[in-house]
Amino acid sequence: MIYHRHFQLKKYNAFQTEAFAKLFCEPETIEELRQAILDYPEEQKLVLGAGCNLFFTQDFDGLVIRPNLRGMREMPDQEHDSVMVEVMASEDWDSFVAHCVENGYAGLENLSFIPGSVGAAPIQNIGAYGAEVKDCILEVIALDIHTGESFSFSNHECEFSYRDSIFKRTRKYIVISVVFRLKKSFHYVEKYADLNKELAEVEQPSLSDVREAVIRVRKRKLPDHLELPNCGSFFKNPYISAEIAERIKSEYENLPLYPVEGGLLKTSAAFLIDRAGFRGVREGNVGTYPNQALIIVNYGTADGNEIVRFMNRIRDAVNTKFEILLEPEVWMF
Ligand SMILES: Cc1cc2nc3c(=O)[nH]c(=O)nc-3n(C[C@H](O)[C@H](O)[C@H](O)COP(=O)(O)OP(=O)(O)OC[C@H]3O[C@@H](n4cnc5c(N)ncnc54)[C@H](O)[C@@H]3O)c2cc1C
Repeated sequence: MIYHRHFQLKKYNAFQTEAFAKLFCEPETIEELRQAILDYPEEQKLVLGAGCNLFFTQDFDGLVIRPNLRGMREMPDQEHDSVMVEVMASEDWDSFVAHCVENGYAGLENLSFIPGSVGAAPIQNIGAYGAEVKDCILEVIALDIHTGESFSFSNHECEFSYRDSIFKRTRKYIVISVVFRLKKSFHYVEKYADLNKELAEVEQPSLSDVREAVIRVRKRKLPDHLELPNCGSFFKNPYISAEIAERIKSEYENLPLYPVEGGLLKTSAAFLIDRAGFRGVREGNVGTYPNQALIIVNYGTADGNEIVRFMNRIRDAVNTKFEILLEPEVWMF
């Protein structure tokens, strides 16, 4: 395995900002990955998937590891009328979802067209259109980033919650594979208004009807990160108290609200950013997407700090208007 020095990371992050890694490698086996961990015990380490949820604001003074672990194996699971599939971390997420839909395996179809790798899916418990990946994960296999020791996490041990997991909180593990349990039968359940609308004309939608509808809606709403660099939703949807919700509702009656745990309500970050005057706003090389205020797009800067400054302007505006501090979903290094 080759260790590259002073390695340009521009094409490894979806915002395409420029930064150099002191060291960079792409292990192709679990043994090579373990070796990389042990070869540089003193260096801080950063694991990259497809780079769709992160960008750089400065050079990385350590070892960047971009695993290239490929493969997939299926195991029957008669007991649950389901199938178990173990997928290696570097497989492309959407190709895996397409594979499931083609084979009649249900559970992940609402998560179609999310860019990135399989190994990153459990990190922030990816979600869309009323579904979260945690609902189909049986087990996550990972290496300790400091020792190379292997661990298996049950769904419960992953401590999943909204855009969160033990992997995200501790940054202590490198995911090497994910085991999914998928249903072999499918009945469409209405979960999300936009998707229901798209499928309104279809009687008994099939798995591929759902996947195609999700892709159509996403293509209409979201910019392609390969054409217009972006990392998808920049902020998490905030959880707020009933009191704050009432206060905002007195001015904006149509504030979206969904009950969540602890008596709190989840609201829409896009709604707040829009009402704070930041939808479709461009400042220099950075802006919010006109069709979706939650997406920050890079119109041409190589400097991640420009994106951070713009992000802070949005946070300040929302905080001043609504007294809600938005939390970024995207990683900044
Ligand atoms: C256009 C667009 C739309 C998007 N839509 C959605 C959406 O609908 N829902 C959603 O949830 N997300 C969405 N995202 C965000 C992104 O696609 C997901 O977070 C995806 O899982 C990132 O995968 P990745 O391989 O690119 O991870 P990266 O961006 O490479 O990494 C993300 C984080 O995970 C860590 N990581 C990556 N791989 C591993 C590993 N093997 N082991 C340990 N840590 C690892 C990284 O260190 C980093 O902290 C969108 C992004 C874009 C650009």
